[in-house]
Amino acid sequence: MDRENDRQSGGAGGCARPFKTRSGDWVRCQSRVRSKCASCAELYRGDWAAIARSGVFDGRVELYRFYLLTLTAPSFGRVHRVPRSQGARAKRCGCGAVHDLRDAGLRGVPLTPSTYDYAGQVAWNRDAGLLWDRTRKRIRDRWESVEFFMVREWQDRGVLHQHALIRIKRPEAPNPQALREAARTAEAVSRVDGGVVGWGAQTDAAAFRADGDGAKTIWYLSKALNYVMKDTALTAMGGRGSNLAWAHLAALGLAARAMRCSRECAPDECASRVHDRYGSRSHVVSASRRTRHRSGWSFTGVTRGLQRRMRAAWAEARAQAAPAAEHASAPKRQEGAQLARVELSRRIDVARAAVLP
Ligand SMILES: [Zn+2]
Ligand SMILES: [Zn+2]
Ligand SMILES: [Zn+2]
Repeated sequence: MDRENDRQSGGAGGCARPFKTRSGDWVRCQSRVRSKCASCAELYRGDWAAIARSGVFDGRVELYRFYLLTLTAPSFGRVHRVPRSQGARAKRCGCGAVHDLRDAGLRGVPLTPSTYDYAGQVAWNRDAGLLWDRTRKRIRDRWESVEFFMVREWQDRGVLHQHALIRIKRPEAPNPQALREAARTAEAVSRVDGGVVGWGAQTDAAAFRADGDGAKTIWYLSKALNYVMKDTALTAMGGRGSNLAWAHLAALGLAARAMRCSRECAPDECASRVHDRYGSRSHVVSASRRTRHRSGWSFTGVTRGLQRRMRAAWAEARAQAAPAAEHASAPKRQEGAQLARVELSRRIDVARAAVLP
């Protein structure tokens, strides 16, 4: 393989839509949507999964307690309840029926569309980020050492719900109920319409250990990361082949089109994608960052930016390695850096393998 090819395959190999920069380097499209570029979407998921794992396995884990916190939106009207798997114990639905898998098309569809609060639901999606912001401040006010990793995904009814891995130092670590209560009762005031935004009653916090238990939890979360990589809520929730489900999504879509996405927004003229995503903004995965006073979620300081730089450096090193091999050994300094890169990419691979379903 010649050098140009090697550089290309290392830097953007596998990307469906790479582009060439002015300096002649090939760069990945960095899409996180699988239908646009499977390769970049997989990197995106792998990067985040590696960050998630790095906060559970890469430090002195015996000093911490770990929790999986799940937060859901409030009710905007009753919806059909349909089991997810064969043999799951089916509860009687609000419509009076006991649904089975054949009714999957009804999952998340309102019992009474005419009274369903579509506007309230898309406004909640819009303000969910702000609510999480308040929630994490509230938790941190009580337990100063809190670090987190968070993923949002779509529920069938077309509203976001949220999973967060939480890590708290043992001396101040609460029981899961106390953590759940602190999170559940957080509130925010919408910057757009001044409404009060809060969580629903279905909230859960469970402790997990930084061993196989932790691997299982991260695997569970990485399934949520899969949803993140689908185009929009439409594809995440769609494909259920029911006219009622489509009607529900259409009504949500109209409500999102009509709402204001900011105080200045004129919905008829606004180009923001928020109106096409049932109110959702784009940040669906995040982790607490390293600061001067805090470690951040990743014990080792892994971020997506760092992973990208490491990949680029690795590709560059490989491209240079071929001609350099003819000469004497490379300077020690460079060698050390290269080893570190190889080690990091190995760890990313291991992490990715561990979370693939
Ligand atoms: Zn790509
Ligand atoms: Zn029903
Ligand atoms: Zn707007």
